[in-house]
Amino acid sequence: MATTVNPVDIQPRQVANKSEKRALLDAIRMTLKIQSPAVRHNTQTFNRNRYVAVAKLADYDQLKDRARQIKEQAIADSPRLLKQLEESVVRNGGHFYLAPTAEDANAYIRRVLVEHSVKLVVKGKSITSEETRLNHTLEGAGIKVAETDLAEFILQVADEQPSHIIAPALHYSRERITALFKRKFDTDLPLDTGEELTKFAREKLREQFIEADAGISGANLIAADSGSIMLVESEGNIRMTTTLPPLHIAIAGIEKVIPSREQFGTFLELLPASATGQPLTSYVSILHPPLKSPPFAAPGKQEQPREFHLVLLDNGRSRMREDPVLREALYCIRCSACLNSCANFETVGGHAFGGETYSGGIGGSWEAGTGKLMNARFAELCTACSRCVNQCPVRIDIPWLNENLRQRMNHAQPTSFARSLFGELTGSAPADTSAPLQKQFFGNYHTFAKWGTTTAGLSNSSLDSPLIASAMEKVFGVDHRRELPKFPEKSWVDLHREEHRNGTSPSTHLPKLALFADVFTNFGYPERGMAAIRVLRKCGYDVELTPSLADGRAPLSQGMIDTARQQATAMLRMLRPYVESGRLLVVVEPSVLAMFRFDLRHLMEDQTFFAKLRDISFEPMQLVWKASQEFGLDLSATFPAERWHHDPRLFYHSHCQQRTCNAASETIDVLRACGFDVVTSSVECCGMAGSFGYKADYYELSMAVGEDLFSQVRAAEEENQPRILVASGISCHEQIWAGLKRPVHHPVEVLDQIAI
Ligand code: SF4
Ligand code: SF4
Repeated sequence: MATTVNPVDIQPRQVANKSEKRALLDAIRMTLKIQSPAVRHNTQTFNRNRYVAVAKLADYDQLKDRARQIKEQAIADSPRLLKQLEESVVRNGGHFYLAPTAEDANAYIRRVLVEHSVKLVVKGKSITSEETRLNHTLEGAGIKVAETDLAEFILQVADEQPSHIIAPALHYSRERITALFKRKFDTDLPLDTGEELTKFAREKLREQFIEADAGISGANLIAADSGSIMLVESEGNIRMTTTLPPLHIAIAGIEKVIPSREQFGTFLELLPASATGQPLTSYVSILHPPLKSPPFAAPGKQEQPREFHLVLLDNGRSRMREDPVLREALYCIRCSACLNSCANFETVGGHAFGGETYSGGIGGSWEAGTGKLMNARFAELCTACSRCVNQCPVRIDIPWLNENLRQRMNHAQPTSFARSLFGELTGSAPADTSAPLQKQFFGNYHTFAKWGTTTAGLSNSSLDSPLIASAMEKVFGVDHRRELPKFPEKSWVDLHREEHRNGTSPSTHLPKLALFADVFTNFGYPERGMAAIRVLRKCGYDVELTPSLADGRAPLSQGMIDTARQQATAMLRMLRPYVESGRLLVVVEPSVLAMFRFDLRHLMEDQTFFAKLRDISFEPMQLVWKASQEFGLDLSATFPAERWHHDPRLFYHSHCQQRTCNAASETIDVLRACGFDVVTSSVECCGMAGSFGYKADYYELSMAVGEDLFSQVRAAEEENQPRILVASGISCHEQIWAGLKRPVHHPVEVLDQIAI
């Protein structure tokens, strides 16, 4: 990507307020223009380390369950725990203040500091103090604030906002820090290595620690039973902040309070592994303030007695606790795994994918909960790809939170006659007709696909017209550079009906299958669907194709939750007899498989039926692998790779939701067992993510995310020897085609072509 602007000249505060859509788009464009490789490099390093670290936690899933349970109970019991904590803090000799608002918290802290005649305060990293804009208040009272976390120090020097939870200056490369320090400190010192930069910053910070009259820290967790505070860090600056000056003030949200100190252990295992990928951070402090040891007194200064204040911030959290959706965000332990695993975040970072304080997939809920709903507009950048879901140590369903925020924003829009009429014609639920036309278009794609297939000749020639492409962009926001899938003359269901008339009879010795005719395959890629039927039958399965009904995925990702529920209810009614007759459910399109595995639970009342659906739904290649592993199918004899008309070297990209469903590895196993030489992609998402990449607003971002995948393909094709491109999702096909202009195959199409 072109770097045409000097990053040092950019002031990200200019793009910080994204409550207006225009501002969000400007932020994305600016970030894409100046994007240094630092954000992608740093987030991907965190990801690699996290994957290794959590794999070493033998009881990772149980730890996550335990952490979730502790947080759920703590939030449910929050009023009682706060009372208990107050007693504990006072019993320990500290002061306790529950601040209803950010202004109250700031006023309290300012008053305490003024009463102690504090001139300089050292601060450890605290996102809660970012939320309250504490530094601004203190500086207004003439109190100097020194950020002591290295990244926060860099940002204070640069006068910038953090762009990441645990690595606030993640967007800074070493070269950029060097340029900043040289410019701001007017120094000729060599600052070209990490060591030189760190030494320089350390010397500056040491002076502050020695001079400081007070220290302000955050808290990772606070135990109600003892008043103990858990702090994890890598640099030791928090320990110095909390132990050197006589006055210590800790500020934290009320959601950080858990019942007991014993429960810290679960989080001490999960937090560093999920955050930095370390088994444990370099410094773990479990304080029981005020400390008993004497504080540090600089030469010439009189020794002061220790004093401790705990400031707990509400600022909307109690409202979040009452909110059935936003309550889940209170379980967040701020590890940042969801930011790092998000392909959009990896590409633009937290200044674009973030609000006034909070960033990333979880950030929207926090902005809406502690500020205004429209501060969460950047949550539109969540494509619901679900890559973050399995990474969250407290199992927060981040895409579901963002879909709800989108619904609230849709409902907050003034409705219009055009929107209502359009919604009525296309099938939106009444509550969703206030959604913008673009969302209603993508949310009711099945209606257009049905119309388009009925009039395929006319529809397809219209799609080729530049005039229509321009109109589609103006009215529905579909980017003119994207090619919408052509409509087939016959849908998958029609093709199958004809083949059935031709008398193809299935084998019967394996489990019986119901192949769900998802809308995208039915009206977009019917031949792919037929290939899936032929391959599964070749394996020996009895396959029955269901009617094609919308499943709710398309409106769900637009925040049209009522429409999604309406579609899902009709589909489930249709599927019930197949499920009750004992058939396994097969789904070609991975985003629809994710509906069966995860999302339908939010849309259906019958949770027993949901659990059944979740457990019996599969991706086709999982069943091919099952046939080989459990029923003795010889893959290399049935689907020999040498029958492929070219070199059997292949590049495979699995769909993001397919990986979240743990339904990707079997495809690779099958292809290798057939004899293919398989290289796989390691990107979290191709950037297309369903309708996201089609939207004119996000086209550039989508292609910038895709660039990572395109370059992995190029790198895999040593000496210009092309590999067969294979991907499992329709949107991945579109994206790879857009980026490389090369045909892409679905795994079932590959097997279908080589079947004996
Ligand atoms: S669901 Fe995907 S796009 Fe949304 S926050 Fe999670 S990783 Fe990012
Ligand atoms: S939502 Fe989960 S993954 Fe994201 S920061 Fe919070 S705890 Fe970590």
